[in-house]
Amino acid sequence: MGIFNEAQKYIVGGVNSPVRAFKSVGGEPPFIERGKGAYIWDIEGHKYLDYIQSWGPLIFGHCDSDIEEAIIEAVKKGVSFGAPTKVEVDLAKEVLELFPHLDLIRFVNSGTEATMSAIRLARGFTGKDDIIKFEGCYHGHSDSLLVSAGSGAATFGVPSSPGVPADFTKHTLLAKYNDLESVKECFEKGDVGCVIVEPIAGNMSLVPGEKEFLEGLRDLCNHYGAVLIFDEVMSGFRAGLRGSYDVYGIKADIVTFGKVIGGGMPVGAFAGKKEIMEKLSPVGPVYQAGTLSGNPVAMSAGLATIKKLKANPEIYKNLEAKAKKLMEGFESISKENGIDFNYNVVGSMFGFFFNPKKPKNFDEVNESDTNRYAAFHNKMLKEGFYFAPSAYETGFICTPMSDDDIQKSIDTYKNIAKEI
Ligand SMILES: *Cc1c(COP(=O)(O)O)cnc(C)c1O
Repeated sequence: MGIFNEAQKYIVGGVNSPVRAFKSVGGEPPFIERGKGAYIWDIEGHKYLDYIQSWGPLIFGHCDSDIEEAIIEAVKKGVSFGAPTKVEVDLAKEVLELFPHLDLIRFVNSGTEATMSAIRLARGFTGKDDIIKFEGCYHGHSDSLLVSAGSGAATFGVPSSPGVPADFTKHTLLAKYNDLESVKECFEKGDVGCVIVEPIAGNMSLVPGEKEFLEGLRDLCNHYGAVLIFDEVMSGFRAGLRGSYDVYGIKADIVTFGKVIGGGMPVGAFAGKKEIMEKLSPVGPVYQAGTLSGNPVAMSAGLATIKKLKANPEIYKNLEAKAKKLMEGFESISKENGIDFNYNVVGSMFGFFFNPKKPKNFDEVNESDTNRYAAFHNKMLKEGFYFAPSAYETGFICTPMSDDDIQKSIDTYKNIAKEI
């Protein structure tokens, strides 16, 4: 019996997070045994160039020696205390030093927790229950955020999963990405306490927010007295050292982090202005807690990662050049083969669409050819290139990826392009 079959006997669907099951591209997921640098190996010994990098966290690739050492040293001192440790303070300082508009931070264990807690805090701060989120933006799997559009634009959301009460999602208004008019309609319709947005959307493949759109959100939040939350769980330390702040210079009231900030360990965080953050328990009345939050092993991995990034800020240019080279290569091969292709690159993140136009929102992303993506995925995987098993994900470049790795990816696409 194959391991995937065996896994399904014991674990729901054989996986602990649904996209890993390869449902949208077909085929069976390889089970990974180890990684080193830009590569991973499955339990059958196949080697893959890894464009997922644990869905973003591993900007220095697998088993980076500095991060590995920090983790090992932390483990030797004890894996968890549930009491304050110095490494939490060190990481908090390193992160906050980068952002003039963020005064205080709280660490949690996942991106989901970070956004869920940030929204509770924003509601507690403003005393207003309605929130605005955007179609195609993902903020983890908490109840208020598992919402799809009702009929028509700018509607109150309906649950996108059984088990989420409609009573919860009726407070979530759904707007269209890169469309300020739809946001204004939501503001007029509800009593809006916060707007949560991925300033660089990475969960409908990669769709960067337009600068005027994000500035408009800032203005609308100021006007209506709502908290602006930038969800940078993915784009933080990925789009640039300071995430979207390096790209647009826009100051959100709360920023959520995850992925890179934990260096591959389970970490999330939310940071914000003092007057908002001080509403949080134990200083203020808004409750939030976690047995393993600020865990010393996870904090040590995060600290080693952030310190290394701050010491080498030039890596982002380098990673972006590689992402561009990959995408430009794919684009010209697509053209030669009559394949509709468009892409976006921001820092170390890339996303592409088998689509004649470059999408600006979720509706346009949905016009992409996902069957073609599935064929692309299957063939590239067979040749040893591990792209995300869904057309709705972002790809990631890590520092150990060489120009040769990129060139080989392009050459391989050239060989398979006729067959997709
Ligand atoms: C991954 C992601 C999350 C959820 O983080 P988890 O650690 O998977 O809970 C939230 N927001 C964004 C933008 C993400 O990319």
